[in-house]
Amino acid sequence: MARLVIVSNRVPLPGQSQRAGGLAIVLQDVMDHVGLWFGWNGNTSPNGGETQTVTHRGVEYATIDLSEDDYQKFYVGYANSALWPLLHFRLGLMEFRREDLEGYRSVNKLYADTLLKLLRPDDLVWVHDYHLIPFGGMLRRMGVRSRIGFYLHIPFVPHSVFSGLPQGDLLLRDLCEYDVVGFQTEEHRNDFLDTVRQSLGHDISDAGVIQVPGRPVQTIVAPVGIDGLAFNRQAVRAAGSKNNKRLTDSLNNRHLMIGVDRLDYSKGLPNRFEAFNRLLTRFPEHSQHVSYLQVAVPSREDVSEYASLRPVLNRMAGDINGRHGTFDWVPLRYMSQGVSRGTLAGFHRISRVGLVTPLRDGMNLVAHEYVAAQNADDPGVLVLSRFAGAASYFQDALIVNPNDPDEIAEAMHAALLMPLAERRLRHMRLFENVLRLTASSYCQTFVNALSGKDKKNER
Ligand code: UDP
Repeated sequence: MARLVIVSNRVPLPGQSQRAGGLAIVLQDVMDHVGLWFGWNGNTSPNGGETQTVTHRGVEYATIDLSEDDYQKFYVGYANSALWPLLHFRLGLMEFRREDLEGYRSVNKLYADTLLKLLRPDDLVWVHDYHLIPFGGMLRRMGVRSRIGFYLHIPFVPHSVFSGLPQGDLLLRDLCEYDVVGFQTEEHRNDFLDTVRQSLGHDISDAGVIQVPGRPVQTIVAPVGIDGLAFNRQAVRAAGSKNNKRLTDSLNNRHLMIGVDRLDYSKGLPNRFEAFNRLLTRFPEHSQHVSYLQVAVPSREDVSEYASLRPVLNRMAGDINGRHGTFDWVPLRYMSQGVSRGTLAGFHRISRVGLVTPLRDGMNLVAHEYVAAQNADDPGVLVLSRFAGAASYFQDALIVNPNDPDEIAEAMHAALLMPLAERRLRHMRLFENVLRLTASSYCQTFVNALSGKDKKNER
């Protein structure tokens, strides 16, 4: 196979601590083919544009830093204050500024200029996520003829929502410069195709190929997944660990419900907290018998909507514990520090309920991890938002509308009371799907399309 070049906003530099579950873990299976990984190193410098290259286990990691001004306009501004809310259906939170759009495009140009010097003619270029939408088109305009693919990790929205983005057609045209564009679910892909049809007027074949004059754009669905068997083994190991013993001892035979999220408004945490409040109010039989552990890792704190979420959750957690807690029972354990993925595997295994209730999410790998970590003989129950990409594949979870705290509370109640036979049956079916949607199948599907092996859809 040709050399695979990965382009992503953040590059997982060898030896640097990186958030587990990130792209590096998902791409493990194709690392043998990856020759170059290019992107931002997460730093700013006075002028930006400084590059650095390290080679580790045959992979060249090339990174670039950004000036503070570029960081603000590209990352904080356009990517995370305009595109992220828009593509999570939160038009009301979108902050659009023309100077941010210009910053976004100029950083993409800087990246493309830098990568151009490192590319070889027959490379396959795989670009990841919403930060880098114009990247492929910029390479094309510099004369790059390699096959270039783009994968969107987050949702796409219907045309009526997308049209709220000023100059949104620019992004659609950028996406139509790729050979392959991949999505987590059929719904995201259909919304994209419909938006392209309505906004740009291109014809689209039944197989989802956009008929751009001179070069068809193939669209595919390639859901991200995990190595479920390996995660299950990790959970079995972690279940015997000191941390798990401490957690189990502290529960005092109570059931545990767990939530693990970045501290992000798309994750629906205030509604989940309110649902727990309502569970304890409406179903008092659970009082004293359940603890809810919420891990909420701070994220993008330079974006104002993220910073303002923290005090909301702090206050809600205090209210819930003040209202329902007793001298020997803290109902809600809320931590805003990260926990390692291995430790979480053990925590998931002993949790009777896994709470995954984002308002919108591209996929949500925590849903996969919760299922994979369970003991099949005595599994817990997944409560899952219908608006997580995972819900397209995990019908056997308790599916909820995350906008209704009462509905979530009722699902928590049902999950806590669910008989063993039903828990086993649901878990068996869910685990089958976790094993079907592996990180490896994700990579294979995308790389086959990118390398043109998957020609059957190009009609
Ligand atoms: N994660 C972790 N430690 C934490 C919180 C999260 O390792 O303290 C991991 C989690 O196990 C999962 C990933 O981060 O693998 C989160 O991915 P997901 O798709 O659920 O959400 P995202 O953060 O990408 O929106």
